[in-house]
Amino acid sequence: MRPIGILGGTFDPIHYGHLRPAQEVWRALDLAEVRIIPAANPPHRRPPLATVPQRLRMAELAVAEFPGLRVDDREVRRGGPSYTVLTLESLREEFGARPLCLLLGLDAFGGLETWHQWQRLPELAHFVVMTRPGWSLPDAEVLPAWARGRLAPAAGELARTSAGKIYFQAVTPQDISATRIREAIARNEPVDGLLPPTVLDYLRANRIYLNREN
Ligand code: ATP
Repeated sequence: MRPIGILGGTFDPIHYGHLRPAQEVWRALDLAEVRIIPAANPPHRRPPLATVPQRLRMAELAVAEFPGLRVDDREVRRGGPSYTVLTLESLREEFGARPLCLLLGLDAFGGLETWHQWQRLPELAHFVVMTRPGWSLPDAEVLPAWARGRLAPAAGELARTSAGKIYFQAVTPQDISATRIREAIARNEPVDGLLPPTVLDYLRANRIYLNREN
């Protein structure tokens, strides 16, 4: 069965830097879908400025234009700290042995060992690490010991097992961050082209990120 992709984040707000790489990975790896999973209470950072219903609504509006992506609200339904290990456990319960692919940027992958119960993550999902075009895998020795035997040489391997492999996938770089969007809106600067127009209309209609500490 085709793997399910997972992209977690605060999505405060969702933007093309989330949507385009996720869709590229969906296509490149022939995933069944990529689930965008907004965090309720992200454990590693300060609370989001937009509310949970607002962040969910923006994600729904955004994925309507992106075939292959869909929103999964399990972290906000669950409440409590949005630990990835709990989310993957819940997906594993739902999907049985079907392959699950956790999409991560290189930065997030580098910081993985700080995540709650991180050693359990490779038991639950594959890691798809999104890199820049032209980036080549460093020698296996520079990878942490736990990662070395896990490298998948070809994307097809991700469909053959449920979890535990690491695959590096180049995606087109998008120089966009939610922080930059929030700051620009608060300063009344244009953010067109950084996020879908439907999301921008929603932000404007609901006066989100205006005159606030970003
Ligand atoms: P903030 O600026 O508030 O930190 P963000 O734009 O980085 O937000 P998050 O919601 O924290 O967005 O990110 C969710 C996931 O998307 C993370 O894994 C993050 O690395 C990834 N991501 C965010 N922006 C980009 C981008 N421009 N290109 C590729 N991946 C991105």
